[in-house]
Amino acid sequence: MNLVFEHVTLGQRIIFGTGAAAENLATEVGRLEKNRVMVIAAPSQAALAREVTRGIPVAVHHSDVAQHVPFANAREARAIAGRNDIDLLVCIGGGSTTGLAKAIALTTGLPIVALPTTYSGSEATNVWGLTESGRKTTGIDNKVLPVSVIYDAALTFSLPVKLSIASGLNGIAHCVDSMWAPRTDPINQTLAVEGIRALSAGLTTIKNDPSDVLGREQALYGAYLSAVAFASAGSGLHHKICHVLGGAYNMPHAETHAVLLPHVLAFNAPAAPEATARIVRAFETSTATAGLASLYARLDAPRALKEYGFREESVPGAAELIMGAVPKSNPRTVTETELRNLLFAAYSGTVPTA
Ligand code: NAD
Repeated sequence: MNLVFEHVTLGQRIIFGTGAAAENLATEVGRLEKNRVMVIAAPSQAALAREVTRGIPVAVHHSDVAQHVPFANAREARAIAGRNDIDLLVCIGGGSTTGLAKAIALTTGLPIVALPTTYSGSEATNVWGLTESGRKTTGIDNKVLPVSVIYDAALTFSLPVKLSIASGLNGIAHCVDSMWAPRTDPINQTLAVEGIRALSAGLTTIKNDPSDVLGREQALYGAYLSAVAFASAGSGLHHKICHVLGGAYNMPHAETHAVLLPHVLAFNAPAAPEATARIVRAFETSTATAGLASLYARLDAPRALKEYGFREESVPGAAELIMGAVPKSNPRTVTETELRNLLFAAYSGTVPTA
């Protein structure tokens, strides 16, 4: 088959090294010649943030971080950046913390240096998100792409195993969805295959021994690859479903992705033989669904939306909202009835079959 595609590679400096975050951050701030830094970290990571930023010129520490970036938090943080004459944003935390830095960068153009502490991958995308009155709005703008990302597996040791697994499966969902997203191409598919391999290996190690640094490193490396693949390929059916559940039903991000992934894979796999062949390569199993099922069993992964606050009576309304967002690139057509069935199964934790 002929190769015909258009691929954009986003420019970022990636610095990877366990135990070296403080040193790498100081070098990076010096290289960027910045001297009024706003440090953003959730209260639970305030001590870590002070330790990691000890060698840089901090003008203000900010900790008012909330999931899905409520608009009021963004407005307040932008005002603080303005009042303090900030010239660089440094965010230390998961996707919610990175998301707040992105919200500031969106209107101010301030550069971001990100130090991720989960595997959700926001640090490697040019996607921003804001939530107001139960509606999550997302957009793409290169201003919000962190100029540098400093990965240090030591920053993730405090992430509980359960959350590590849900977050890592969020990364695997980026990879799987990249296979049939609107701008899928051979480059982002290749990154996605390596992302699935690295995350599967890393999460399995974390589950067996949370203190094993090699597992944490593999998971961070895979998380980066998954986010690059996702930023390049765009949002497929899986992300559209999770976007609705997060914004309209305030569902927890990582767990929702983890629960939905096997259902969307089982739904699309029969109609997407090339994509599933790539996923099979990553898992080294006979089928893509078997590979994911075996990983979920090893990890004791999240299974049912009902365990995270989703209500059965919300299924029809959610299916209706998702119908309006189904990507044209999806390998099979989607009916509202099929979506309802998929959501009912995800709600109750029924094991999906392809
Ligand atoms: P999160 O940032 O909301 O963190 C989840 C919880 O884990 C929080 O309580 C946080 O304080 C805690 N935590 C984070 N790191 C920790 C650590 N090392 N040790 C102990 N506790 C830690 O979770 P997330 O899944 O990383 O991010 C979710 C948000 O990011 C959502 O709003 C989602 O929409 C967004 N997101 C955006 C993109 C993008 O490309 N724009 C990509 C992925 C996620």
